[in-house]
Amino acid sequence: MLPNFSYIRPESLKEVHRQLASDGTRVHAGGTDLLGCLHDGVFGAEKVVSLQGLKELSGIRQNGSALRIGALTTITEVERDSRVKELYPVLSQAASEVASPQLRHQGTIGGNLCQKPRCWYYRGEFHCLRKGGEKCFAIGGENQFHCILGGSRCFIVHPSDTAPALMALDAEVRIVGSKGSRMVPVAEFHVPPAEDPQRETVLEQGEIVTEILIPSPPKGMRSRYRKVRARQAWDFALAGSALTLQMEGNTVKDCRVVLSGAAPVSWRSREAEEALRGRALTEETIRKAAAAAMENARPLRENGYKISLFKGMLEEELGKLAGRG
Ligand SMILES: Cc1cc2nc3c(=O)[nH]c(=O)nc-3n(C[C@H](O)[C@H](O)[C@H](O)COP(=O)(O)OP(=O)(O)OC[C@H]3O[C@@H](n4cnc5c(N)ncnc54)[C@H](O)[C@@H]3O)c2cc1C
Ligand code: SF4
Repeated sequence: MLPNFSYIRPESLKEVHRQLASDGTRVHAGGTDLLGCLHDGVFGAEKVVSLQGLKELSGIRQNGSALRIGALTTITEVERDSRVKELYPVLSQAASEVASPQLRHQGTIGGNLCQKPRCWYYRGEFHCLRKGGEKCFAIGGENQFHCILGGSRCFIVHPSDTAPALMALDAEVRIVGSKGSRMVPVAEFHVPPAEDPQRETVLEQGEIVTEILIPSPPKGMRSRYRKVRARQAWDFALAGSALTLQMEGNTVKDCRVVLSGAAPVSWRSREAEEALRGRALTEETIRKAAAAAMENARPLRENGYKISLFKGMLEEELGKLAGRG
């Protein structure tokens, strides 16, 4: 059952910040994750402040050489935008893999970055470490969908499909609060549990994401998103990859290898990037890069299968970017 809360829909950013100043307030964008969290008692709210009255936060615009995506732009709009499709296929493909058509029509890109984790203990009636409790129930429990990289005290995987794609594109988010605005790279927007297991993002009380800026792609960039999941209906990633390769002939000049379904935050594999950069995209380079991506994996009792899943998926995806298959 939903708890009782007051619902406010301001028409200006200033009023949003005034309303968000008090504790116990929650931001509402499309509501696809927020309402589930409130319904399931993941957290409570005395007041819910909708962003839907802020029309300026919707839509995709060219901003000099960068593309600006307003935080209220729906996932469907991101997926279908012709500029995103043409210049940033990795983002269009990632958006197309989010949830179901209905949820993509309702859910926003800002909400996608700010959504809460999907760990079943956290979403259930367990007062785990992330909720302020003493322990992580996943460590000795059912952990087949948890992380294999970057876990520390808490072992969630980050649920967003668009975050790894945005990270592979070196995108930044604009954060606005009552004291002003700041730009933060998507790569630094989510907080790893080693830093603070009770926090998902760098947002402070009262701050919101207003837009995402993606720089123009470098010449010769190829990109792809892949999501492996247990079923073809809506589901979160068991393993996923957002890849961008800047090619010079058949040589990888620069690259980003970002994994989803692997770690508590979208995980940039510097080991895989190192194995690719400056090398011809041969089968051997690809095999070594896929192996390097998993060299620091530390699986829990039930999720060791993810290592071979990631290796196989990365070999396939890099092969496709090399023009094979
Ligand atoms: C059945 C189901 C399946 C799903 N599958 C996937 C999936 O496969 N992949 C995936 O990536 N996601 C998935 N989602 C998660 C999510 O609902 C969507 O990704 C959606 O994009 C969230 O956007 P929203 O606008 O509905 O967010 P909301 O529900 O409105 O908000 C989500 C959270 O972000 C905060 N928030 C929202 N906007 C802002 C902002 N601009 N600034 C600061 N805080 C903000 C809210 O306070 C809330 O805590 C799924 C959700 C459901 C219910
Ligand atoms: S993995 Fe994180 S969210 Fe899940 S039970 Fe452990 S501490 Fe809680």
